[in-house]
Amino acid sequence: MKSEMLEKMEGYQEVIQEIHADRKYGADFLDEKGAVKNYINRIHPGRIDLKVTDIFDETRTTKTLRFSAIDGYLPPFQAGQYISLFTSIGNIKTARPYSISSSPTERGYWDITVRAVENGLVSNYLLNDIRAGDNFVSSGPQGQFCHNPLFHDNHLVFLAGGSGITPFLSMIREVSRKGINRTIVLLYGSRTTDEAICHEELNTLAKKSPSIKYFPVIEQPEDTFDGLTGFITADVISEATGGIDGKTFYICGPQAMYDFCVQQLESLNVPKRKIRREMYGVPVNIWETDGWPEDVDRDNEVTISINGEKIATSKSSETLISVLEKTGHIIPSICRCGECSMCRVKLLNGKVYQPPGSLVRKSDRQFGFIHACASYPLTDVDICP
Ligand SMILES: Cc1cc2nc3c(=O)[nH]c(=O)nc-3n(C[C@H](O)[C@H](O)[C@H](O)COP(=O)(O)OP(=O)(O)OC[C@H]3O[C@@H](n4cnc5c(N)ncnc54)[C@H](O)[C@@H]3O)c2cc1C
Repeated sequence: MKSEMLEKMEGYQEVIQEIHADRKYGADFLDEKGAVKNYINRIHPGRIDLKVTDIFDETRTTKTLRFSAIDGYLPPFQAGQYISLFTSIGNIKTARPYSISSSPTERGYWDITVRAVENGLVSNYLLNDIRAGDNFVSSGPQGQFCHNPLFHDNHLVFLAGGSGITPFLSMIREVSRKGINRTIVLLYGSRTTDEAICHEELNTLAKKSPSIKYFPVIEQPEDTFDGLTGFITADVISEATGGIDGKTFYICGPQAMYDFCVQQLESLNVPKRKIRREMYGVPVNIWETDGWPEDVDRDNEVTISINGEKIATSKSSETLISVLEKTGHIIPSICRCGECSMCRVKLLNGKVYQPPGSLVRKSDRQFGFIHACASYPLTDVDICP
């Protein structure tokens, strides 16, 4: 039906002829057939083979893993981007995104800095079971949480919480190495100074460069601490930045911190377009988020089927992708936070909960597609991957 309609369109045959000619003679019109395609694949590879070359302890619960490329070439990335790391843990094949924490000026390696998550599958595997010499496959660099000098102010305010410091580490290291004309104010919320990742390095970078200011904001300060305490409130932001005008705000951290910081920025009248955020995974304790139906218990048991065939039982508080992976059904995924659409599946029957802010396209909603990484089965569901 669709192709019949297309065939009736004016110019359809000419376009088809051109496509055939391109396929025959090489679509990039160069003497060297495929040169452009090869070049693009090298800069934006779908998959990269990596080797762990070093592991550094950062805090009691955080380590940095340093990777080099097995073929010796790492594509360029923009500070703030992440890679998706593919892992095989027991019978479960899965992937998790990790921001690249090293500076893009370091072309020989990529660092990721991983904090342990309680009962977390991949974070604890990376922290406890991985040794230098182990191999991984990752996606190419992904994501838009980057500074674009064409659109964003050159005065940047970073609001970070916990392991959400990692994209900022890359951005700050880049500015510091290149000495570019950009001012940065970093407010980094942490429970204690011991838990603040790269606290000493950030202090040193701020001392070396007048354009970088670092304010740890400590929730449970030790007696000797004389900096900002509590949370990243509007008062704290005003005090550290000296005013909001001409500044772009970047937030990265747990959902609760994001919600809190956005409220604080709004109370300072920061326009929405000046607030940028990194999606940092789906909310922890999903049943506590706005919109979770009151009558559905987090331990509610439901069945999951694929094209009518039952594959598992699940709790309503587990994401569909995680149930699918546990039963050996691999759905391609990159961001794991409902943003990139890679894990889109069709919901044939049943009801799922998609947390507020899920970035499902209007057409997907209309035709019943959902993101498996950010969908929770409220009833028995049947899907088509
Ligand atoms: C774009 C992006 C970049 C990221 N960069 C980093 C990074 O640089 N460093 C880093 O350590 N992590 C980073 N993360 C988070 C990371 O991808 C994983 O979500 C995290 O390591 C937990 O995975 P897991 O397999 O250990 O936990 P899972 O097994 O997936 O989850 C187990 C339980 O922990 C809860 N949980 C999941 N994630 C978190 C979390 N982040 N904090 C608290 N509880 C959680 C879940 O609700 C669940 O109940 C990033 C996430 C995104 C989307």
